[in-house]
Amino acid sequence: MTTSLAPEPQSSAGAPPESLPAYVYDLTELDGHMRRVRAALGDVEVYYAVKANPDPRLLRTLAPYVDGFEVASGGELAHVREHFPGAPVALGGPGKTDAELFADVTRLHVESPSEIHRLLAAGRAADVLLRVNLDIPIEGASLAMGGGATPFGMDPAGIAECLALLEGQETVRARGIHAHLASGLDASRMLEVAATVLDYARGLGMSEINLGGGMAVSYAEPDRTFDWETYGSGLAGLRRPGEVLRIEPGRSLTVYCGRYVTRVIDVKRVHGELFAVVAGGTHHLRTPATKGHDQPLIIGEPGEPTTIVGQLCTPKDVLARRVPISLKPGDVLEFTMAGAYAWNISHHDFLMHPKPGFHYVTR
Ligand SMILES: *Cc1c(COP(=O)(O)O)cnc(C)c1O
Repeated sequence: MTTSLAPEPQSSAGAPPESLPAYVYDLTELDGHMRRVRAALGDVEVYYAVKANPDPRLLRTLAPYVDGFEVASGGELAHVREHFPGAPVALGGPGKTDAELFADVTRLHVESPSEIHRLLAAGRAADVLLRVNLDIPIEGASLAMGGGATPFGMDPAGIAECLALLEGQETVRARGIHAHLASGLDASRMLEVAATVLDYARGLGMSEINLGGGMAVSYAEPDRTFDWETYGSGLAGLRRPGEVLRIEPGRSLTVYCGRYVTRVIDVKRVHGELFAVVAGGTHHLRTPATKGHDQPLIIGEPGEPTTIVGQLCTPKDVLARRVPISLKPGDVLEFTMAGAYAWNISHHDFLMHPKPGFHYVTR
């Protein structure tokens, strides 16, 4: 299903029209984006959060710019090991099975005191970061994994319990602190959160700190990208000599390189409202349904507000509402910002429609 195509200045963004719907990944865009992000971050280590998009071609494009990969399951770990044997890997996530907890990884992100109990009982060597959920206000986040009661990480009492368990032995080594508290914060808010996490880690005498991912992207204003320069220089200012700072972004790295390209099957007016039904839908691109946004798209000819829906028999199969665009059957539509949490979070088998094509464009 995967082919590599030369760029074509056509409306299907590099996908042959007969293969639509299709995902088109612009590897040149990803390379350029990664180069800028890497340059902005100086000495800060970057692990790519594989769950955002594990496509091997994307991983290969971004690998030269990252220090490692962050995985959240045994499946992702096996996938990274297959494509990048020997690359540094951090494994995290709540509810680890024994196979996950005892995996041989560069860093294990511990989510609970019972994980420490299990490691010690099994006599397994591990280099761990303790995941903390600090009770700090997280305003403006699109998702909050911390700042209150959530199943992610531990409160400071849980961290203290882990440190007490680890005393007097060398097999399980506490290397530092991990914090992934929120997603959707801009650079200045991220820096405030980072300063709080750093204070906390220093209070415990820890010098390795993973500040997580969650850098904001805007589906409403695609041009408003995360300010990596401000974040990078801010972290450089916060970092003290001897400290290792690491981040693990996902969405903000790969979201922009992917497009979901499809064509209009039907246009109809129902009770006064105009609908365009496209081939495919949210079973290929679940992002707008799960996040409750309108997926951005390229507007060719402007027109009457049109709600763009997919082929599923559910009112939730909406890709974008009341878009001012002129559409007729056969027109090609390109949804942008479909490179992260898009295909890989979608319910592909619902209604048994065909899968999309996958195309990789380099310029
Ligand atoms: C999902 C996740 C990330 C990546 O988050 P993005 O919003 O994609 O940047 C990083 N760390 C952890 C622990 C995660 O669960």
